[in-house]
Amino acid sequence: MPAAGSGERMGGVRKPFLELAGEPVLLRALRPFLDDPRVVGVVVALSADQAATPPDWLRALGPRVVVAPGGATRSQSVRAAIAALPAELDVIAVHDAARPLVTSEVVASCIDLALEGFGAVAGCPAVDTLKRVGTDGAVIETPDRASLWHAQTPQAFPAHVLRSAYADTTEEGTDDAALIERAASGTVILMVDAGPFNLKVTRPLDVTLAEAILRSREAREDG
Ligand code: C5P
Repeated sequence: MPAAGSGERMGGVRKPFLELAGEPVLLRALRPFLDDPRVVGVVVALSADQAATPPDWLRALGPRVVVAPGGATRSQSVRAAIAALPAELDVIAVHDAARPLVTSEVVASCIDLALEGFGAVAGCPAVDTLKRVGTDGAVIETPDRASLWHAQTPQAFPAHVLRSAYADTTEEGTDDAALIERAASGTVILMVDAGPFNLKVTRPLDVTLAEAILRSREAREDG
């Protein structure tokens, strides 16, 4: 679980430690994984200072949660977390600590697919038409929306597939599946529809949105 970002777009606030309806974003992101009995461990990649002195609530989660110092980019943080995992694993799932609204159902579906040998990427179909745009702001083309999805996390893979994708390249990416697509490993990667509410808390407005989504989920559970 990469959680070592600097939070630039959040005005320098580290997103995983922001409180969302009374609980840190990182704790909400971790819980659906810790609730799945198949998850033997989670490595949380934290910035070097936080990895040296993790908060008490993180340590209190028990021995399944391990902390490792992350890197300067998301890819480097994921790489550091993978290196800290136990050797014998069937599946490795990567989940952004900044996605606190991930559900147990989505986590379970991604793990199920990876156990069957697929790559699994949480996401949702694009609802807006998307444009490819040059640095000058001019439209280059309009890809067919019917084939476009937003990619989120979790992204789960057979452990050996993800390990060799990271071992074979030093390339940086904004997600993990891209490394496997480029590696031409032959692994089929399937999208898992997680809907539009598995959002990444990135900008200050996302905190308000995420709290509204949590409130509406809780109201549905109570009702
Ligand atoms: O920056 P971005 O929104 O892509 O970050 C996605 C996730 O990667 C966040 O949970 C963030 O904390 C993490 N990250 C990291 N190390 C970095 C940059 C981002 O672990 N150097």
